[in-house]
Amino acid sequence: MNSALILLSFLFGLLTQVYALPVKVGIKRFSDELTDRDQMNAMDQILLVNSKLRQPRGMALREGDIASSYIRSAISCPGNACLWPKSIDGFVYVPYILSPLYDDMDRITIESGMQDISSATCVKFIQRTVEGSFLDIQPRYGCWSFLGQTGGSQTLSLQTPGCMWSGVAAHELMHALGFVHEQSRSDRDHFVSIIWKNIMPDQLHNFRKQLTNNLNSPYDYGSVMHYGRYAFSEDGGPTIIPKPDPYIPIGQRDGPSLLDLHKINVLYNCGR
Ligand SMILES: [Zn+2]
Repeated sequence: MNSALILLSFLFGLLTQVYALPVKVGIKRFSDELTDRDQMNAMDQILLVNSKLRQPRGMALREGDIASSYIRSAISCPGNACLWPKSIDGFVYVPYILSPLYDDMDRITIESGMQDISSATCVKFIQRTVEGSFLDIQPRYGCWSFLGQTGGSQTLSLQTPGCMWSGVAAHELMHALGFVHEQSRSDRDHFVSIIWKNIMPDQLHNFRKQLTNNLNSPYDYGSVMHYGRYAFSEDGGPTIIPKPDPYIPIGQRDGPSLLDLHKINVLYNCGR
């Protein structure tokens, strides 16, 4: 009798384990997805949105989100020629217009991206009145910007809702101020390894180093301008690994880091 009971409870135990297994796996997968989403940085979000687009007409997107017309093909700002001019009062005013297609929440998100830059630098985003050069911020397809001031009206696209994070807005605004991605720095090979074999073959060009002015600033793994660890991955393997410590988190989505703000201050000579 006793042994029959033991056998029965053993069988019952096995049965519950078998039934419990898929549930456990399911929960784990769900929480993994949550963690992955949680770790998405601004650039991951931008690439996610932009990967679903065709290239905007007459333009190319370099490094995933830096727009260049076919005429202005160089992804550089030689001699700081693309910087916004500094006013006599020491501020750098960047006029902008926001498309009427944005709703109140969109405007708040974009303007808080501006505020995150303005509150700690001499760059002030102001609503355009008569200025000839200005940002025309529109919910086009994708999240992208030209590099630096191009002169005249320049589009900066923040699609809604995909690009509606203040960190994404700050990222595109930093491109408009003249910054490229952090891992494009000329000295990046001292700080990250690019895992070329994991990159989609047609996207290798997005990992070229640029002749950057590094503004005497340390490499910033926490820059809002940093690609994520899996950017342009072919098969899900990492494409960027920090060194010597491979576990340093890279990029984030909250907004400009302290070093990002410092670099804006140096590039625009704030306080001088
Ligand atoms: Zn970018």
